[in-house]
Amino acid sequence: MRLQNKTAIITGAGSGIGRAIALTFAKEGAKVVIADWAEKGGQETVEMVKQAGGEAVFVKTDVSKAGDIEKMAGACLENFGRVDILVNNAGIVKGGPLHQTSEEDWDAVLSVNLKGIFLASKKIIPEMLKQGQGKIVNIASVAGLVGFENSGAYCASKGGIIALTRAMALEYAKNKINVNCIAPGIIKTAMTKDMLDNQAIKTNFEAQTPYPRLGEPEDIAMATLYLASGESDFVTGEVLVVDGGFIAK
Ligand code: NAP
Repeated sequence: MRLQNKTAIITGAGSGIGRAIALTFAKEGAKVVIADWAEKGGQETVEMVKQAGGEAVFVKTDVSKAGDIEKMAGACLENFGRVDILVNNAGIVKGGPLHQTSEEDWDAVLSVNLKGIFLASKKIIPEMLKQGQGKIVNIASVAGLVGFENSGAYCASKGGIIALTRAMALEYAKNKINVNCIAPGIIKTAMTKDMLDNQAIKTNFEAQTPYPRLGEPEDIAMATLYLASGESDFVTGEVLVVDGGFIAK
């Protein structure tokens, strides 16, 4: 198993990509902390992991709140004694033309998507420094690499994640803490459901994706597994694009 005796915190693991990462990690031997502000989804993920024979705990966490991040780290240390892997996956999207984007929506997107990664990493890195190694995987988006209309706040947050990932990678490479990010393309989750339920939008995304299907959460989970495992020890500061060729043109 690729994550035997490892402990991982996965934010936003009550749904979609985060849930797939939790199930994949547990299957590979990791004990997982499911950190999500959605209690029902988070508890469901815990049950799914347990039914598959794994170990998991849920901790209700809003990643944009420092107090909740404290509780998240505490729950991991109390239950499992260490933190080997942090997957910063929780994210939200609020769209609209920039001149119609409210200050409240801008702040919400940047607080969850970008500040959440700052808060969680700031809390967990000292544990990794004590342990002498660690793996941090940030879930960005192709929207951090290319522009999408009506998505200014989201694109800015995801571009920020890519820049933060590189800065963190430089700071902690000497401590054997790898910091990488993944840029998913269009993945079928609750986040994209409304868009993909619109046949015209779905057809347009399919036409822009050279691989003959859209992405599944498991596609991102497998890439995250690689970046969380010892197989990627010499990889840091990298942006792994997992998009079926969406931005290859
Ligand atoms: P999802 O199905 O909506 O799952 C996101 C999970 O995070 C939900 O359980 C959500 O709870 C939770 N969450 C939201 N804000 C949170 C907060 N402040 N603290 C803790 N948990 C929070 O979305 P997904 O598609 O799996 O997205 C996961 C990540 O992948 C996000 O960072 C997203 O930007 C990124 N991504 C997704 C795609 C895609 O096509 N799906 C593409 C590129 C990047 P609620 O549902 O209750 O809000």
